[in-house]
Amino acid sequence: MKEETMDPIPMVDLQAELNLLRNPILEMITEVLDSGNYVLGKKGETLEKLVADYVGAKHALGVANGTDALVLALKALDIGSGDEVITTPFTFFATAEAIAEVGARPVFIDIEADTYNLDPSKIEAAITPKTKAIIVVHLYGKAANMKEILSLARKYNLRIIEDACQAIGTEFEGKRVGAIGDIGCFSFFPSKNLGAFGDAGLVTTNQKTLHDTMLKLRNHGSDKKYHHSLIGMNSRLDEMQAAILLVKLYYLDIFLHKRKEVARRYTESLPEFLRKPNVSSSREHTFHQYCIELDERDKLAAELDKNHIASGVYYPKPLHVQEAFRYLNYKKGDFPIAERAASRILALPIYPMMTYEQQDYIISTIKKFLEGEKDK
Ligand SMILES: *Cc1c(COP(=O)(O)O)cnc(C)c1O
Repeated sequence: MKEETMDPIPMVDLQAELNLLRNPILEMITEVLDSGNYVLGKKGETLEKLVADYVGAKHALGVANGTDALVLALKALDIGSGDEVITTPFTFFATAEAIAEVGARPVFIDIEADTYNLDPSKIEAAITPKTKAIIVVHLYGKAANMKEILSLARKYNLRIIEDACQAIGTEFEGKRVGAIGDIGCFSFFPSKNLGAFGDAGLVTTNQKTLHDTMLKLRNHGSDKKYHHSLIGMNSRLDEMQAAILLVKLYYLDIFLHKRKEVARRYTESLPEFLRKPNVSSSREHTFHQYCIELDERDKLAAELDKNHIASGVYYPKPLHVQEAFRYLNYKKGDFPIAERAASRILALPIYPMMTYEQQDYIISTIKKFLEGEKDK
């Protein structure tokens, strides 16, 4: 009877986290309200210091959201009209949107079938005299192959932007992502592994000149009030979100640990024939999403829904076939591995406060479905 009385299981349970952290968060918010300082201030500066330390980068700057982080990174590297940027077609739209936003051209290459990250062996063929940079995405929290990508970047003099929006805390060969390339970009959208209660983002870099440029760019290109040396934007971190993030950052490692534990239990319990996330010690996975792959993806999603279990498809349509990018003249069939993943992938609920009882119910529902399919 347990099945019938269980509450619906969402993809992420932000309410459960809020219940745990409500008191410290309310205290922090009150401090911000009383401070009279609401955009760029003490909380933001503290967050920048702590996240820089956490990621292992020399500098961090709070910005308005993850998309702006990417735009600021491209602008700081002086990438714009006439330039090409290599990236993956299998990511959230914002990765390539940022490239187009600064006037450059996104150049897609296919992904690794087992990690869903861009395949370094396909980079060289995509490089032209116009190529300026590569945006690497650590999709779902899984580290991309930074070693290969860095060595190609060095060989061809390309800059590396890491889209680490889904991967705060993920390690590549012992170094945290976001501190490996030239600039790291983070999103603190509420559902991310470190999430605010609104929009927020951050950039990291080890290069002081890039830090100094982004410091200006995020605030209308100004060094001091009403003196503008660059054309920038308004992309500042607000103090309320910074304060909330300070509380949540304190719990980040515990929460990531729990995500890995939930992932381990899924992988152990689900049948061998399903494609499950690739886990390796050199390229860590922090499980922003736990995705399986199967032909009957849509049928399983419907069955889960019928049993009040959420699931998600990240992403159903690769970027090279998105309407907004039709001017790039890609067509269906150009990136078969990304297209196959888009048609088969299914993300299961995963969040730090998930109970084993909830997870066991999800697992047994999936197993029942698969048994039923086998008998057909
Ligand atoms: C969330 C996300 C972004 C954009 O972040 P926002 O804060 O929503 O602007 C960019 N890239 C990836 C891979 C993301 O997951």
